[in-house]
Amino acid sequence: MTTELSGTGVTPRAGIGRVVWYRGTTDLEDPPDPATVDPDEELAAFESAQEAAHEELERERERTSERLGEDEAEIFDAHRAFLDDPEIVGGIETAIENGLPAPHAIRRAFTDPIARFENLDGPMAERADDLRDVRDRLLRLVTDGDRMDLGDLPDGSVLVAERLTPSDTAQLDADAIAGFATIFGGRTSHAAIFARSLAIPAVVGVGEELAQVGDGRELVVDGERGTVVIDPDDEARNRVSVAETPIVADHVSTADGDEIEVAANVGTLAELDVAAEQGADGIGLFRTEFLFLDREAPPDEEEQYEAYTAALSAFPDERVVVRTLDIGGDKPIAYLDTPDEANPFLGERGIRRSLGPDSDLFETQLRALLRAAADHEDSDGSLAVMFPLVASVEELDAALSRVESVAEELAEEGTTHAVPELGVMIETPGSVFMAEALAERVSFLSIGTNDLTQYVMAASRENERISDLHDPRYPAVLRAIRRTVRAGHDGDAWVGMCGEMAGDPDLTDLLVGLGLDELSMSAITVPDVKANVPEIDTDDAAERSDRILAAETREEVVRLLSVEDAE
Ligand code: PEP
Ligand code: MG
Repeated sequence: MTTELSGTGVTPRAGIGRVVWYRGTTDLEDPPDPATVDPDEELAAFESAQEAAHEELERERERTSERLGEDEAEIFDAHRAFLDDPEIVGGIETAIENGLPAPHAIRRAFTDPIARFENLDGPMAERADDLRDVRDRLLRLVTDGDRMDLGDLPDGSVLVAERLTPSDTAQLDADAIAGFATIFGGRTSHAAIFARSLAIPAVVGVGEELAQVGDGRELVVDGERGTVVIDPDDEARNRVSVAETPIVADHVSTADGDEIEVAANVGTLAELDVAAEQGADGIGLFRTEFLFLDREAPPDEEEQYEAYTAALSAFPDERVVVRTLDIGGDKPIAYLDTPDEANPFLGERGIRRSLGPDSDLFETQLRALLRAAADHEDSDGSLAVMFPLVASVEELDAALSRVESVAEELAEEGTTHAVPELGVMIETPGSVFMAEALAERVSFLSIGTNDLTQYVMAASRENERISDLHDPRYPAVLRAIRRTVRAGHDGDAWVGMCGEMAGDPDLTDLLVGLGLDELSMSAITVPDVKANVPEIDTDDAAERSDRILAAETREEVVRLLSVEDAE
């Protein structure tokens, strides 16, 4: 019988295959009588496992750097730091001195640090996975356990696991594996980020029910709907076999000749290749904070300059929009001492930090960006820079004056630079209401519907209990978008959208009707949106969008969207 379980879809792709369970090799029996344990021997066993773990991590780092890029590889530096962490190593040594064998001492020493990370909110909680990864590696090495070779799974396998660690996911062969599903894990876990980068169908956080699915069972992993289907029926199979939309490399225009730029959002350099493969017309959002995560210190000017130049080189004839640091909220960074706030999404985040406690980092980032902008002055491509979470004209003015002073500083030093095209993200009600004034000061506005929806609807983008309210199809959000587009165009600014809404192919007609000039999305949705654009006549779409925006409830919007679709 077909059974469907729900989780969080992380890659909008579906795959079908036979289950291969990934089980740890690190279950331990009860410890023996301490009198029978030789602490010197156990200590030596731990130390050689620690050394072997360093060697393995070094090799995996190299392999990941080649396959996925330097950013992803840096996670292994964090793992190596955990291996030498004084609290953990001290805990292991003390437990051994107290009569525990090395494996039990390792398990015990990791317990508290893992629990501490688990109790934190947001992405920091996922660092617990990194600690488990390091612990299990040590346990395997100290017990001579075999490790399943995840890079050599039979073709068409669906990997099922309690959770996957970054090093597990980085080993997967995207061409061989049909997908993976995990009991635990969230959308922002490393496993999820890697899965998206590698375009592997994946659903995480399915829950304990997944544990009943035995090896060899047939499973559909539907990352689009966020479900796994056990023993799938024809309907579930058909969802997998739906042919992928062909990739369109050229820019696309509506039936009446208006070009709509369909760009990709990226967070890591590895995703640039996927974006190019999917036919993206450049990058509409480069989330630079990913360059700052999972490391001990921020990247310096040179490293950032290289990252921005790499993005430009991946799209030499297109525009690459880089967003300055958007730290805080759901993206705290330990080494920046981000405060523990009761309401982090209403607190010190985005441009507020860049103009406040992270102003030195902001300056370094602007220096790297202005230098990178000069490198591409002679090509058709260009760099653009935008600021996140602006809520007032004052903040934009302050950011623009920082750009001016950095440009002056570079000029005084004689460093080659150029001031890129500048824009502002529209993600707060404050910025929607001040959009005219903002548009007068910059070349473009880019609507971030993930945050805009949460702030307009006062519904956290992370809280599953009210996730129904976090829906951009509410008329209030749609009217905020229409207001922004009109204000932008009145001020001669182009207007794009880089929130998840832009990548929903069911909404392309509405967004074109509302007048958006650019839509930027996860790379894998680019072909679907590009396929829609030439079918649309802008005047007709504008009329349809007027009818939809006259609606007063989401229910009415949803009904009208399906009616208009059927026309
Ligand atoms: C948004 O808020 O819509 C957006 C694109 O930014 P992020 O998802 O990175 O907050
Ligand atoms: Mg945002």
